[in-house]
Amino acid sequence: MNPLPVATFYFNRRTLSKLLSLILLLVIFSLSGCGDTNKTAAVKEKNTATETSKDIKQSNTLTANDIAHKYIIVDTHIDVPYRLEEKYEDVSQTTEDGNFDYPRAKKGGLDVLFMSIYLPAKLQKTPGKSKELADHLIDLVEKIATQSPDKFAMAPDTKTLEANFKKGLISFAMGMENGSGLEGKLENLQHFYDRGIRYITLAHSKANNISDSSYDPEKLNHGLSAFGKKLIPEMNRLGVMVDVSHISDEAFYQVMELSQTPVIASHSSARFFTPGFERNMSDEMIKLLAKHGGVIQINFGSTFISQKSADDYNTFKAARDAFMAKNNVKQDSPEVEVFVKAYREKHPQVFASMDDVIAHFKHVIDLVGVEHVGIGSDFDGVGDSLPIGLKDVSAYPNLIQGLLDIGCSERDVEKILSGNILRVWKQVENYASEHRQTR
Ligand SMILES: [Zn+2]
Repeated sequence: MNPLPVATFYFNRRTLSKLLSLILLLVIFSLSGCGDTNKTAAVKEKNTATETSKDIKQSNTLTANDIAHKYIIVDTHIDVPYRLEEKYEDVSQTTEDGNFDYPRAKKGGLDVLFMSIYLPAKLQKTPGKSKELADHLIDLVEKIATQSPDKFAMAPDTKTLEANFKKGLISFAMGMENGSGLEGKLENLQHFYDRGIRYITLAHSKANNISDSSYDPEKLNHGLSAFGKKLIPEMNRLGVMVDVSHISDEAFYQVMELSQTPVIASHSSARFFTPGFERNMSDEMIKLLAKHGGVIQINFGSTFISQKSADDYNTFKAARDAFMAKNNVKQDSPEVEVFVKAYREKHPQVFASMDDVIAHFKHVIDLVGVEHVGIGSDFDGVGDSLPIGLKDVSAYPNLIQGLLDIGCSERDVEKILSGNILRVWKQVENYASEHRQTR
């Protein structure tokens, strides 16, 4: 056998090494999850290299805006009811205030919002008041839906929301923000299930008769109360998702031991970026949540997202509180309004950026994979504190672009937009259909 001429040998070796590096890139590409910097680098390199880059480019031809309108977008926390309770506006038309209305939701591709049935902790002092407000806010949501049947529809289950999506309607699901609405009675859980409540945030800013709160330094229950511990299996049995946003860390770990179905954090971000802020979830908690199949729905509020923004807010609040104490005036007085205006002229408010928001998604993805993160914006609930580029429900395409930019595939994005939360909701529905009768 004749040895190969030297030149041919070199050519073949170069071709071979090119081929090998291509295979290596493909392996990296298929193994790494979205948000992995290696993958982004791999894709960039490929796009400058060979014809295989076309395949990748082809799968990315949909724009962020196309993706927003192709797939269901679920946002698990929007505070429309309480906003309208304070100042009514017709959200089927363009509204002056707020972060949600029909035209902006359509523009952004929003399909399902969990209307937050928010019950302020101060009502807990008066028995019956929380339940009364909950029923009233649910009436309000139903009224908005029935008044515009060509735009909105209620969605108490995943089947209905999928049917609504096909008809081009925006679905209203409902979550109760503060289990105080149950007034400490299990029979009220059935009542609110029948009214369409599909998740309950166990507590809000103060400990209640179910759970301690992350915001409340007094940990009255050492986690969950005896009633809280009875409530979790009942929520599982009926098909009401357990929401761990707002509760204390101790309560979270107890929920994780008790719940037979995956749980959600309807509007929380990663504590990694805001050390010591118990309202956000630590890495250890996110890992445990994911291990049990759950999902963290990222809150967009700037103080949840960026430590700089939180520091700015805390400094502002201290100055305002000092002014109020010194002049003996209330927060809604004209004097405070003048003070705030002058303060903000001197010290402009610090908002989070879109990169800051995307960093939270990436952090969760790197920690536990793309199957455990979604959207819980807190629109209409965090006042004027939303990040630049993410000010209202028309902005989901900006978020999608950010996810594509860190290397998320269309399939990954779909999971974040709705796939993950719908997986959990369906699991909760299935568990309930198997267990509802057994008592
Ligand atoms: Zn909240």
